Amino acid sequence: MNYTICPKCGKDTKRLIDSLCQECFFESSDLVKVPQVLHAQVCSNCGAHFNRGRWTNDYDIDEIVIRTVEDELLIHEKAEDIELYIEPRQMTPHLYRVRVEVDATIIGERLHQQVETEVRIGRMACDMCSRISGGYFESILQIRATNRRLNDEEKKECMAIVNSILKRMRKKGDRMAFISNSIDDREGIDLYMGSANASRDICKEVVSELGGTFSESPNLFTRKDGKDVYRITFALRLPEFMPGDIIEFGENVIEVRKFGKNVTGTNLISGSKYLSKPDEIQDAKLVGRREDAVRTVVVATEDDELMVLDPENYETVTIKKPLLFSAEAGDEVPAIKTSNGIVVLTEDSPDTD
Ligand SMILES: [Zn+2]
Ligand SMILES: [Zn+2]
Repeated sequence: MNYTICPKCGKDTKRLIDSLCQECFFESSDLVKVPQVLHAQVCSNCGAHFNRGRWTNDYDIDEIVIRTVEDELLIHEKAEDIELYIEPRQMTPHLYRVRVEVDATIIGERLHQQVETEVRIGRMACDMCSRISGGYFESILQIRATNRRLNDEEKKECMAIVNSILKRMRKKGDRMAFISNSIDDREGIDLYMGSANASRDICKEVVSELGGTFSESPNLFTRKDGKDVYRITFALRLPEFMPGDIIEFGENVIEVRKFGKNVTGTNLISGSKYLSKPDEIQDAKLVGRREDAVRTVVVATEDDELMVLDPENYETVTIKKPLLFSAEAGDEVPAIKTSNGIVVLTEDSPDTD
């Protein structure tokens, strides 16, 4: 094997790295260099990370430590095929010891070096958490129902939409996608929102999923740097009727399946499917819900007629037999009394596609 002489120390060496033997190379330059102490700023509340001048949603503290080290790592400029291994160890919540191992090739020679550093974690409140705790808001989102109270199920559904939209916006880096205060009372929910755009997106999503309407009205709040600053109130109204409501208007009795941009359901008198627009049935009244139906006995069935017992006075009444009505004499069926007479419901609620 051929040996060369290191020009610095004069020893024989198999190969020269950057014109030096391996020992002299490591004496004069490092494969990897990292400061002894590094600092990372983390939000004590939500775990966001202050990185390169802005807060980002990196919630995993090990990831934050690794990134802090990576950002400060200096690897020899001639290194190729670099393999990097960074292992953080938590000593205290405020201190991490980090071992860094690097394997790389410099001028044909595979080298390995290990260094250690520590990352000190500074905890403070991030921009978002400071705004939340200061009660900052840009818009108020009022969630209500039309001509009735918002029920608990609807509150839950709306809040699920609210939270998923805020989560999605925060993931994209929107630091204003937060709720700084909320009021939940008998009428509905008021949310004090950091972002008006978030409120608008939520309104659109709720209307598309649950129906209803929304409007926005800006109020001049203050002037800042010569510009008008508005706070926008979003009035979100869920529809008056819900799936499962039995409503009546004119000579129609409808079990509502969906009350959104379109109204769909079953016409309980004819048994046929029902489809219209909400403004076509503005004078509709709520008769009850499927749960309010009482079971009554089918006395007899004819081709197009049905005789049932009036659930209140047990008199036999004859009604039109709805399409697809399959019960026979002696069976019990759910029925509900309306000003259009008694209507019978099919055993299963209409499918909810
Ligand atoms: Zn040497
Ligand atoms: Zn925070």
